[in-house]
Amino acid sequence: LADTTLELQIIPFGINQKLLISRDISQLEKVEHMRRDFIANVSHELRTPLTVVGGFLETLSDMDGAVPDSTRSYFDMMQEQTGRMRRLVEDLLTLSQLENSPTIPQDTEIDINALLSMVMNEARGLSNDRHTITLEADTTLNLTGALEELHSALGNLVSNAIRYTPTGGSIHISWKTRGTDGVFSVKDTGLGIEQQHIDRLTERFYRVDRSRSRETGGTGLGLSIVKHILTRHQARLDIESEFGKGSTFSAVFPKARLVHKTSTPSNQSA
Ligand code: ADP
Repeated sequence: LADTTLELQIIPFGINQKLLISRDISQLEKVEHMRRDFIANVSHELRTPLTVVGGFLETLSDMDGAVPDSTRSYFDMMQEQTGRMRRLVEDLLTLSQLENSPTIPQDTEIDINALLSMVMNEARGLSNDRHTITLEADTTLNLTGALEELHSALGNLVSNAIRYTPTGGSIHISWKTRGTDGVFSVKDTGLGIEQQHIDRLTERFYRVDRSRSRETGGTGLGLSIVKHILTRHQARLDIESEFGKGSTFSAVFPKARLVHKTSTPSNQSA
């Protein structure tokens, strides 16, 4: 029985009676393990050839006369698609690494000011002045966890807000307490999402509008990565949205992940 995993379920029935159902899920776990290993191996193997092809395409693109004007559009398409494949492979690798190691690599106090300024700089770069981006942060509130992972998760929510908000829209980023929780939220005035999609957004490759996601450089894995990272930090992702009006994505961290500092709060806008 050492290699056997049993799933137990207790179902009440009749008056004061209970039914105990035990199910052997060892095979399911084995298959799941194989699936994860397979994805990790394939992504890893694809990484090098894609890097080589992408590198040579870039070199050719920079060489005078290497790409004739008549074939430039084909060439650009090749570069664009190679870039897409590379992003996909990187996201698949990230996801399989997250799935294969259940705990975070380091658990330290994170300087929230440094993290927010990295996220804000990236947001400004990505938006390129097409949106109004504002930040409201309680800088007395620090977070604990793995910096690289949290940077990736929060950055992902902000980059989605920018990608799914047309030019002229606004994005409001905030970090504050709500009850005993710490909430990082990103509110946009973008496309919004119909209710029936909301529960499925964190599934791998689930996209409301495939062509829009592709156009803006999406892989369909971003929110799945965000959810894994937050779960590893005992945090959750809340999504509120109104179709045609905008969305708010919030990462909600429990009290155990928060450190209250003694300086004063500040507001900032960009
Ligand atoms: P993608 O790479 O396609 O953006 P994600 O996993 O990050 O993949 O997001 C899944 C889907 O959720 C997106 O394809 C998009 O349809 C929807 N979505 C995510 N963020 C937003 C947002 N801020 N506004 C509207 N739709 C969003």
